[in-house]
Amino acid sequence: MRILPAPAGSGIVFRRTDLDGFEIEAVSRNVARVSYATSLMKKGVLISTTEHLLSAFIGLGIDNAIVELDNLELPILDGSAQPFVEMIQKVGIRKQRRPRQYLKIRRPLEWREGNKFIAVYPSGTYSVAYSINFPHPLIGKETFAVELSNGSYLRQIAAARTFGSRQDEEAMRNMGLIRGASRENCIVLTQDGIENGPLRFADEFVRHKVLDLVGDLALLGKQILGKVVADRAGHAMHTALVSRILRDKSLWEEVTVSTNGEANGVASASQAAAGAPV
Ligand SMILES: [Zn+2]
Repeated sequence: MRILPAPAGSGIVFRRTDLDGFEIEAVSRNVARVSYATSLMKKGVLISTTEHLLSAFIGLGIDNAIVELDNLELPILDGSAQPFVEMIQKVGIRKQRRPRQYLKIRRPLEWREGNKFIAVYPSGTYSVAYSINFPHPLIGKETFAVELSNGSYLRQIAAARTFGSRQDEEAMRNMGLIRGASRENCIVLTQDGIENGPLRFADEFVRHKVLDLVGDLALLGKQILGKVVADRAGHAMHTALVSRILRDKSLWEEVTVSTNGEANGVASASQAAAGAPV
């Protein structure tokens, strides 16, 4: 994988160097099958496991980049977003002149599927509150709430690793995923503990769910201003939230945020469709 600079307004674009540089934009309309990881597909070309890198981009405030890959799966590295964050910080980030466009949530959207819940509410900043309830002695019920606009992502979320059991690993291998998987790139759960401790945070599991959610919501194609609440959701619900938001233009408006942090509306089709701005 190689990450290259891109002009303002390009968004995040994946490029398969093994397929004549075929490009797939990291946006909702290219979301393909979603189970253990989020995959993008365009004209039959697949990019798998996009969420950790896209999460790192949001955490670092990166709107535009080209991601070259010579394979269909992104490197899993240590199972968190930390290695991506460190590599990007090492080469540096350039501020571009065009003001960032945000997708500002104007009214609540919430839904439930069985015991799973996901919602987004209006807010002047981007925050996430995630709850999980996982039948394992080390996990159980965990909740983590974080404000993402103030740098907390890098301190509290980026290093949280993915987790799974040996059975998950076998299922994923059968799907052709995690070719490079080992104890080095995920927390491996046993019946009553973990195979490869110690944990990086006592509540590393729920923090990783926040990491995944942020990466999946990046498929909105814009940074979001809103409060996202999730309970036992997963990639499928995260990406469904993205398409539901995009489908209903009365839910949001595009804004730019001036340096004093106040959100400024810009003329846009969405605003016109939604009537008077809030
Ligand atoms: Zn993950």
